[in-house]
Amino acid sequence: MSAKNSPDIWNLVEAKRETFFALSDRIWEMPELNYEEFRSVAEHAAILEQQGFRVTHGVADIPTAVMGEAGEGGPVIAILGEYDALPGLSQEAGIAEQRPVVPGGNGHGCGHNLLGSGALMAATAVKDYLEAHGLKGRVRYYGCPAEEGGSSKGFMVRAGVFDDVDIAISWHPAPFAGVNNPISLACNEINFHFTGRASHAAASPHLGRSALDAVELMNVGVNYMREHMPSTARIHYAVTDTGGSAPNVVQANATVRYLIRARDLPEMQGLLRRVKKIAEGAALMTETSVRSEIVSGDANLVGNTPLEQLMHRNLERLGPPVFDEQDRAFAAKIQETLTDEDIKSSFARFGLKPRMGVPLCDTIFPPESGDGTLVGSTDVGTVSWVVPTVQMRGATYAIGTPGHSWQLVAQGKAPAAHKGMEHAAKVMAGTAVDLFRDPALIEAAKADFRDRLAGTPFVNPIPDDVDPPIPTKARRAESVAP
Ligand SMILES: [Zn+2]
Repeated sequence: MSAKNSPDIWNLVEAKRETFFALSDRIWEMPELNYEEFRSVAEHAAILEQQGFRVTHGVADIPTAVMGEAGEGGPVIAILGEYDALPGLSQEAGIAEQRPVVPGGNGHGCGHNLLGSGALMAATAVKDYLEAHGLKGRVRYYGCPAEEGGSSKGFMVRAGVFDDVDIAISWHPAPFAGVNNPISLACNEINFHFTGRASHAAASPHLGRSALDAVELMNVGVNYMREHMPSTARIHYAVTDTGGSAPNVVQANATVRYLIRARDLPEMQGLLRRVKKIAEGAALMTETSVRSEIVSGDANLVGNTPLEQLMHRNLERLGPPVFDEQDRAFAAKIQETLTDEDIKSSFARFGLKPRMGVPLCDTIFPPESGDGTLVGSTDVGTVSWVVPTVQMRGATYAIGTPGHSWQLVAQGKAPAAHKGMEHAAKVMAGTAVDLFRDPALIEAAKADFRDRLAGTPFVNPIPDDVDPPIPTKARRAESVAP
């Protein structure tokens, strides 16, 4: 597929592997949370500059978002990366026992150190390919913060930063490599604040109006609603403010946070309206008042058949990632800390027959797998409503490793993680190059995108008046301090 004497795309990925393995390891070592990824974004921006991208800092007015562009004219292909970590998952690398680096500290429990570095690795190889072959077109790397509950891509969509993008490509670390059915739920996280009237609970209970009663009645109402909602929907709640710990004071304030998930955006928005009605009913019953505020929201992932087929062809051409005996030995040690159930259900989730004694991915999972079993949410979903989007899974850790676990953090710097990341970068870069070489593929992806969303107007799950929870300067100084 390459012109004479020009390096092909996979060689270009391999040529800079040490740069990106080192980047991933540095990000692993500085785990930062939602919208506090100041050091991580600086690392990504430095590589973008060093590799000759045109860099935009503070994309969408988010200090920890960055964008780098290379190339001229032609279509625009975006490769999306992330670099946020999770709280409470600090863990030493390369060992198969739980041992935090910093007790209670953060850790990369979702592999986003690999996600961002692998996406930037792919974008850099595509840039080098466009230069080497004199091809028209622009490749962009979007460094997107706060995937874990922060919905930054929704804010970035709202700011219009993807408006001139033709195709978006991403990946996520996983136990297996492949392109699965894009199943992720639309969601909204929303706070309900109830306000009543405080009073002495024994001397003058008749003068008090309890906000906590309202929260309890609201939860009862929503629990009754469960019988009458689609079976794929999910509703969870947490009482984040009970109004105090003194039972002899009528609670004047109380807050409950709801997370509402459904198969697609319109269904989720319908459920949200019903939950709001129940909140109003609870306020009416208790003579309190209620105010709600959306915290974050993601749209469901919209699939794209031509893009998924193209990415799968790239995977088949490349084959599964190649791991060695040492990689398998460490993964087997990790598996010893898991249950057989963890391992079996990991195979099943990707449409594969369980095979015990196979610690690492050695096959590409079938493209039709994943129906109804991957029911989380991701902010990549919101991008997929405005740009034809495709996402693959890259095999970077032992089969059976639970998401958001110390075992996942422990494997984040292993040679197998690097190999799985390079493998995903090759598939993403190969997919992008195919799209640049054949504009008809881009047109097919756009036609599929239009068909799927015809008659369903996009309503961003993040309302216009909600701002991302960016930390103040004082907190920022604290988080940057060693
Ligand atoms: Zn993740």
